[in-house]
Amino acid sequence: MRGGAVQSAEDLLYVVARAPVGVRRHEDTTVQYVSTRGQAPALDFAGVLLAGLADDGGLYVPESWPAISPAEIAAFAGRPYTEVACDLMARFTAPAIPASELAPLVADAYAGFDHAAVAPLRQLSPDEWILELFRGPTLSFKDYALQVVGRLFDHVLQRAGLHMTVVGATSGDTGSAAIEAVRDRSSITAFILHPKGRVTSVQRRQMTTVDSPNIHNIAIEGTFDDCQALVKKMFGDAPFRIRNRLTAVNSINWARVMAQVVYYFTTAAALGAPARVPVFSVPTGNFGDAFAGHVARRMGLAIPRLVIATNRNDILVRLLQTGEYRKGDVHATISPSIDIQVSSNFERLLFELAGGDAAKVTARMQSLERDGVFAVGDRALAVMRGEFSGRAVSEDETLACMRAVWNENGDVIDPHTAVGVVAGRAMRDGFGGPLVHLSTAHPAKFPDAVEDATGAKPQIPPRLARLLDLPERYDTLPADLAAVQAYVDQRAIS
Ligand SMILES: *Cc1c(COP(=O)(O)O)cnc(C)c1O
Repeated sequence: MRGGAVQSAEDLLYVVARAPVGVRRHEDTTVQYVSTRGQAPALDFAGVLLAGLADDGGLYVPESWPAISPAEIAAFAGRPYTEVACDLMARFTAPAIPASELAPLVADAYAGFDHAAVAPLRQLSPDEWILELFRGPTLSFKDYALQVVGRLFDHVLQRAGLHMTVVGATSGDTGSAAIEAVRDRSSITAFILHPKGRVTSVQRRQMTTVDSPNIHNIAIEGTFDDCQALVKKMFGDAPFRIRNRLTAVNSINWARVMAQVVYYFTTAAALGAPARVPVFSVPTGNFGDAFAGHVARRMGLAIPRLVIATNRNDILVRLLQTGEYRKGDVHATISPSIDIQVSSNFERLLFELAGGDAAKVTARMQSLERDGVFAVGDRALAVMRGEFSGRAVSEDETLACMRAVWNENGDVIDPHTAVGVVAGRAMRDGFGGPLVHLSTAHPAKFPDAVEDATGAKPQIPPRLARLLDLPERYDTLPADLAAVQAYVDQRAIS
């Protein structure tokens, strides 16, 4: 499966075609977006925002990369995160959304984060740092993009006088980040399916305690796979999809990648860029966050190495070793948010490696579908190895790292962060200077792993503790398409 990517483009283009303002094909001279499969129309930012997946099954990428000069990078140091964020993102969103419209959205998106720096650094050892990307409302790094994306959606839809229905399935973390991103947005109604009794109580409460009339939580009597199958079928039912204007805020949406580029720049500037640029280690599942690092590099930030950190679900690490991108079985681990064996955003890198040859990308993705494998070719592999290194980290190594950081620093880190720390330390490939590990989740989200590693449950931050007393709202439905569709039909605004 294409990592949570559901067929949402057709109905979006239906909306795009009908939108009177704001959602239009690109005519200006700034960034426009093309599909990695080459058969979908080029769109401007508002178009790709709403489209998510391109209607040829590809992913949208900017046709060119905006360049950030060394002087501009140096000047990011000490500036508020939201200012830098607006500066960088406007280069991708204009003219559909100019900086003047973007600024208040971005300021609002990060206003609720619980650290003034938004994405603060914590020192682990001399010249080794943890980038705390868990300061948002749901305590995972997905808030950094989704808080912006929810507001962008609302902005574009309001301007166009449109309303859309977000449908998604979650095994835990993504659902709460998506819900927090679209709560109270009048142009969006959201339906999030979770498998009843199969998410942790903290994860469930992060979703079900959100008191907003546009949010509908559905506990499905079944597994996560059942939930995902129901969502896919809803998107596959064209009349239903069009009637309710379904969309997904999933991980292949370009706007999510764009928002994640920002903290690579702010972090590097804080540590002395452009003179000193850190090696970054990135816990990786769908390759969105790591690809954002690559984009920062393409924009002019000379990142010497991007370390792809995975658990035993290691498709990208095997690719770097062998040149073959080969699907594997998914194994459940203590770092569940990266239990992924097909990294959907990798198609964006593949498009670049193929020199923008969409036919080549299409052939490779077809061979992945048909045979479960394709080879990238020697030249592409050499280019990849010049930028990325990768390491698959075992459960024992993950727990040992959490324990060691606890013993040596008194810091509790979550299992995803630990995967990054192990991989980053092992794979910096002789590059000196600062080493930064992206900490993608707060340890309180994974209390069992923390207890296994340190002997004690993590402290619960106040914003999570508060949820324990709030009333929960959700409806329970059987894993039955007709029942779920009837539920959505009754509540969606079309
Ligand atoms: C989603 C997630 C990741 C993986 O991010 P990708 O962009 O999919 O590679 C890593 N860690 C945590 C905690 C996550 O929720």
